[in-house]
Amino acid sequence: MVVQRQNYNNNVHVLVIPYPAQGHISPLIQFSKRLVSKGIKTTFATTHYTVKSITAPNISVEPISDGFDESGFSQAKNVELFLNSFKTNGSKTLSNLIQKHQKTSTPITCIVYDSFLPWALDVAKQHRIYGAAFFTNSAAVCNIFCRIHHGLIETPVDELPLIVPGLPPLNSRDLPSFIRFPESYPAYMAMKLNQFSNLNQADWMFVNTFEALEAEVVKGLTEMFPAKLIGPMVPSAYLDGRIKGDKGYGANLWKPLSEDCINWLNAKPSQSVVYISFGSMVSLTSEQIEELALGLKESEVNFLWVLRESEQGKLPKGYKDSIKEKGIIVTWCNQLELLAHDAVGCFVTHCGWNSTLESLSLGVPVVCLPQWADQLPDAKFLEEIWEVGVRPKEDENGVVKREEFMLSLKVVMESERSEVIRRNASEWKKLARDAVCEGGSSDKNINQFVDYLTNTNMKGNDLSSY
Ligand code: UDP
Repeated sequence: MVVQRQNYNNNVHVLVIPYPAQGHISPLIQFSKRLVSKGIKTTFATTHYTVKSITAPNISVEPISDGFDESGFSQAKNVELFLNSFKTNGSKTLSNLIQKHQKTSTPITCIVYDSFLPWALDVAKQHRIYGAAFFTNSAAVCNIFCRIHHGLIETPVDELPLIVPGLPPLNSRDLPSFIRFPESYPAYMAMKLNQFSNLNQADWMFVNTFEALEAEVVKGLTEMFPAKLIGPMVPSAYLDGRIKGDKGYGANLWKPLSEDCINWLNAKPSQSVVYISFGSMVSLTSEQIEELALGLKESEVNFLWVLRESEQGKLPKGYKDSIKEKGIIVTWCNQLELLAHDAVGCFVTHCGWNSTLESLSLGVPVVCLPQWADQLPDAKFLEEIWEVGVRPKEDENGVVKREEFMLSLKVVMESERSEVIRRNASEWKKLARDAVCEGGSSDKNINQFVDYLTNTNMKGNDLSSY
């Protein structure tokens, strides 16, 4: 669906394909918007189940199949089954889509694919078009998995801390859980390593991060992984403002409740509210939810908590009524609007990479409660490298007890250290903006990609130079 026609003065047509989860669709659709704003015709292809949730002006949206067209991953119920089915059905339907466009005046000239879908690169090469991998996690995480792929780090890691060039020493609690417990998530671990399986054939690699944020990490990585840093992929209104009206990702897998949230926030004093969210996938134990719930209540802070319907049953009995004065609990909201609101003074986050970039881009200090996967190294960087927050300690059962949680809230909201944290957060906000502004490091990298596609397309796709 093309909402508004653009004039493109070149014959470049980029097809962007995300892994069909909120944390992947959002940065890839944002990248699509950047390409469109630079005069590149862009089509976004995602699964039948997720395609309905995309509304982005000037971007055509087309479905491909993961084999579970009715309700996607939840229909498959099994990660391995889902990934295999997506590979088979996705390759076929992507190939058909490319063929369909080949018969038009705007054939597809390049595929930008989520690095979780390396088969998309194989399809691109079969059709003799360019392929660019897009990594939706930090460069630090790319660094770790890339080294495992090349046999430079062995798993399970038996010597701790793990020393990786460009990264701080990583202890057990800082390691991505797929590495800490490789046997517990075999399908995800395989997927993380598969990203690198055919990467040497990719014409470009992008990582959703920016130079100032991960310069050291990238230094240790370039030969193995010559990636371009193009982030943060956060809607333009919160950064450079160069894409008109770009206030949201345009991809919400759940209905936002932002009006309720904003009205509630408007009535609260500046920086007085703690915003809590664990993203789109994480599920906490009942014990952990109870500890957080009671910690928030005893702290007597104002708080807005996003807790999915399935998680709300884990709250202590009568809790919602007991916190009416101070807190509001919703099932989903527009996180960016919240983080941008003057009343929000702290973000209690699971440290998903998008939430991490959003907190940095909007300058909001954090309390880190990482649960699994890459959230653990993200938390390490937030607390120790970027110094924008604290990570409370877990007890021997992995639970953050309420006293520990309350202490962290206090450090971020009102201690002496909170001033330093706040200053750092403001500095990162500025650096994030600088990266995507005209002439910024990420902007330059995107321009380079655009120029390359535009120039080579005028001469015809010549893949022999790769
Ligand atoms: N998000 C949102 N509303 C919410 C909670 C989350 O819009 O109530 C968005 C958030 O802004 C982010 C994404 O969902 O862009 C979550 O991505 P992240 O990588 O942080 O975590 P994941 O969901 O992948 O674990």
